[in-house]
Amino acid sequence: MIQFAELKIDALLVSALPNIRYLSGFTGSHGLLLVTPESQTLFTDPRYTIQASQECSSKVKTVAKGPLELAAVEMIRRARFKRIGFESTRLIYDSYQRLKQALPLAASLKPIGPVIEKLRMIKSPEEIARIRRSVLTNSEAFESTVRSIRPGVSEMAIAAELEFKMRRLGAEKAAFETIVAAGPRTALPHAQPTQQKATVNELLLIDMGSCQNGYMSDMTRMLFLGRPSQKIRSMYRAVLNAQLAAIDTVRAGVTAGQVDGKARQVLESEGLAKQFVHSTGHGLGLEIHEPPRLGKKDPTRLEAGMVITIEPGAYIRDFGGIRIEDTVLVTKNGCEVLTTTSKELMLL
Ligand code: ZN
Ligand code: ZN
Repeated sequence: MIQFAELKIDALLVSALPNIRYLSGFTGSHGLLLVTPESQTLFTDPRYTIQASQECSSKVKTVAKGPLELAAVEMIRRARFKRIGFESTRLIYDSYQRLKQALPLAASLKPIGPVIEKLRMIKSPEEIARIRRSVLTNSEAFESTVRSIRPGVSEMAIAAELEFKMRRLGAEKAAFETIVAAGPRTALPHAQPTQQKATVNELLLIDMGSCQNGYMSDMTRMLFLGRPSQKIRSMYRAVLNAQLAAIDTVRAGVTAGQVDGKARQVLESEGLAKQFVHSTGHGLGLEIHEPPRLGKKDPTRLEAGMVITIEPGAYIRDFGGIRIEDTVLVTKNGCEVLTTTSKELMLL
């Protein structure tokens, strides 16, 4: 529920597409949603007339000519709304300017932070079911692909195969650009796949997610073609221990910072604190990165129904990196790891 009184607004203009989808069901690529305590109106263009009428619970206004903002302002003027909230982290500047110029003098624009994103942090049973499905599709695509990886296959070819498989299994698309990194390139946490080939006695990192029925999944697994050295085995063990320890701390009431702190503490005891260069995880749902962020000292308290990733990693330049990532559902007394794929270093 949007707290209009608390926010001191009469209406909220929602411009972020994932937020529009969350509130109205509309999945198109062009829309603006005007929400009041009594009603919702979606503004979109004629390409989406049929689709919006099929998808939306709210009223739909098709705007044949001119910017959607002007049609929204027309409705604001007629309803005599005074205080109009807008998504300050999401509305583009040009759009803001159009609104500002068209609004009657008596009305004002009020920046509202990520209120819808906060509502979205707690998933409904229906959303959890969709994420669960997305996670399973992702794991199935991974497991049916990786066994056939042989030395000489390029990162790009592996990424293409993984994305093809997930779509054959029911995903609409990949949740993000699939990360496949071979050898020393595994030290780049967000490596983009290249023509680099997987070679014998080197690490291979795969970070992939599916988007199914609009909902994301996210998983990272490590593979090794050949026999890993002692250094790689112990580094792998350290990251896995950090990941398991962090998962162990997850439950309703714990802060995001505490979970991050646990992963950091384990890696520090292994001498890998400086090699862990990102946060421990993030929320996911209609978007791949959503609040909460599981960063250092983040005060957000986890609540039952949040879906987050737990993904500590360690990266050494010119050597390689290791990350292990699961999608996890926060529950009252702990959590449920939704990802079913084995976390052992996969030897090929
Ligand atoms: Zn990931
Ligand atoms: Zn992630």
